[in-house]
Amino acid sequence: MTHAALLAALAACLGEAHVLTGADAEPYLTDWRRNVTGRALAVLRPSDREEVAQAVRLCAAAGVPLVPQGGNTGQVAAATPDASATAVVLSLLRMNRVRALDLDNDTISVEAGCVLQAVQEAARNAGRLFPLSLGAQGSCTIGGNLATNAGGTQVLRYGNARELALGLEVVTPQGEIWDGMRGLRKDNTGYDLRDLYIGSEGTLGIITAAVLKLFPLPRSQCTALLVLDGLPQALRLLRRARGALGAGLTAFEVMSAACLMDVVRAFPQQRLPFADLPDGGWCALLEISGGEEDGRAQELLETVLSAALEAGEALDAAVAVSGAQSAAFWHLRESITLALAQAQACVKHDISLPASRIPAFVQSTDRALAAAFPGVAMRVFGHLGDGNLHYNLLPPAGASHAAIQRLVHDRVHEAGGAISAEQGIGQLRVQDLQRYKSEVELDLMRRIKAALDPRGLMNPGKILEAGPQTGATAGP
Ligand code: FAD
Repeated sequence: MTHAALLAALAACLGEAHVLTGADAEPYLTDWRRNVTGRALAVLRPSDREEVAQAVRLCAAAGVPLVPQGGNTGQVAAATPDASATAVVLSLLRMNRVRALDLDNDTISVEAGCVLQAVQEAARNAGRLFPLSLGAQGSCTIGGNLATNAGGTQVLRYGNARELALGLEVVTPQGEIWDGMRGLRKDNTGYDLRDLYIGSEGTLGIITAAVLKLFPLPRSQCTALLVLDGLPQALRLLRRARGALGAGLTAFEVMSAACLMDVVRAFPQQRLPFADLPDGGWCALLEISGGEEDGRAQELLETVLSAALEAGEALDAAVAVSGAQSAAFWHLRESITLALAQAQACVKHDISLPASRIPAFVQSTDRALAAAFPGVAMRVFGHLGDGNLHYNLLPPAGASHAAIQRLVHDRVHEAGGAISAEQGIGQLRVQDLQRYKSEVELDLMRRIKAALDPRGLMNPGKILEAGPQTGATAGP
C-alpha cells in the first residue's frame, strides 16, 4: 500500500478531521524539552479502542511504524518520531472517558488519554484518592503515566504508576485488542502481561485503558518546608520522620537552595517562607497524611520538626497553616522543572541510588564535575525518600554535554544505581542503556521486543536501538 492509500484508508476509518498532516501535525512533533523535532506521515487521533486497533492494522499492513503519544510531557523524547517522516504519531488525547467507578472494589477504569488531573478529580468527587501526582499532571495522561511507569511525589507511600494499576487494555502491534481490564488485587494466572506493558514506553503495544487503584481520602494533611545545611542532614531527617510518622509520611522531597532561587527569579509571584536560604543549602518538603482516627497531622508533624531543629538536622522550618499555603509550598517544588526549562542549557540526569548513598554520591560527583568542568553549576532536587534525584547541571560555555553525562552516569553505575529512575529511556538514553545493562539483560529485552513486535513497528528506536522494520513500503 502506498502512503497516500494508507492515509486515505485511515481517514475513512477515523474521519478526515482526525488524520492530521502539515501544520496541523506540527504541535505533536517536538518533545516537551524542545530537544528533538521529528517528522511524521500523519498524526492520528482515534476516539476509541476499535479505531486504535483498525489504525494499527492498517499501518501494519503498510509496514508503517507507530509512535504512541499522550500528553507529550515526557522528558526523554520517547513520544517524538524520528526525522524520516515514515511513521505516524498516534495521539490518545481523544480517548478521555472514565468508563467505570467501583467503590466497593476501590477502582476506577479510565481510557488512556484521560489527563492525570482529571482522574484525580473524578476520584476525589467520589470521595477517594488517586495518589499519582506530578508536576505535569494537568497535561500528562494515564496512558503515558503507565507507559513510563511514572513516579512523582507520592511514591514513598503509594508506589510508582505500576503499583497503582490493576488491569490494562492494550492494542497489540498486530492490531488485536487484549482486554486485561481485571480489577483484581490477586491474579497469579501465568506471566504478568500488565507488568510487561507498564514502563515499555509504547514499544510493545498501545495502552487504551486501565483499571486503577483508589485509596481513602486523607482526613487531615499537613505540609512543612525546612531549611537544611546539606543532604546528610536530610537523610537523618528522613529516618526520623519515617520512624515517627510511619505510613503517614506521604512525601519527602529535597531541593537545593539554588533551585528554589531559580523558581522565585523565574516566577516572582512565588514567595519563599524564609527570609533567606544559606549558600549551598537545601530545603526539604515533608507531607503527612492521616486517616480519621489520626486527625492530628499538624501536631504530629510539629513534634518531628521540633526534634529535628533541636538535633540540628534542620536550621529553620515553616509549617503550612492552610490548604492554600500547603499548595504554595508544593507549587515551589513543582515549578523547578519549569524554571530550569528557562535556563539556556541544562544537562539533566534522573538517577536513583539507595537513599543511604546519596549524600556521598552528590558530594563526590559535585567535586569531580567541578574539577573536570570548571564553572559548572548544580541544580539538584528530587524524591529523596525514593532514592531518586534529578541531578541537573548548568554547564559552562563550551563544555560537552555528552562528556558531563558520561561522568555522572558512570559514577551512578559504579555506585550500583540506575541512570533512569522515573523518566524512562526514550530516544535520548538508548546509548546509555547499551553501555550500562549487561548483555544478558539487553538480550532478554531484545527477545521480548522481537516476540511481541517482530516487525519492529511500535515506537522504533525507543528504549532499544531500532531494528529492521520489515515490510515498510517506500514512496509517498
Ligand atoms: P508522553 O510524553 O506523551 O509519552 C511518554 C511515553 O509513553 C512515550 O514513549 C509514548 O510513546 C508512551 N505512551 C504514551 N501514551 C501511551 C499509550 N497510551 N500507550 C502506549 N504508550 C504510550 N515524570 C515522573 O515520573 N515523575 C515526575 O515527578 C515528573 N515530573 C514532571 C514535571 C514536569 C513539569 C514535566 C513536564 C514532566 C514531568 N515528568 C515526571 C515526566 C512526564 O510527565 C511523565 O513521564 C508522564 O508520565 C508522561 O505522560 P504523557 O502522557 O505526557 O506521555
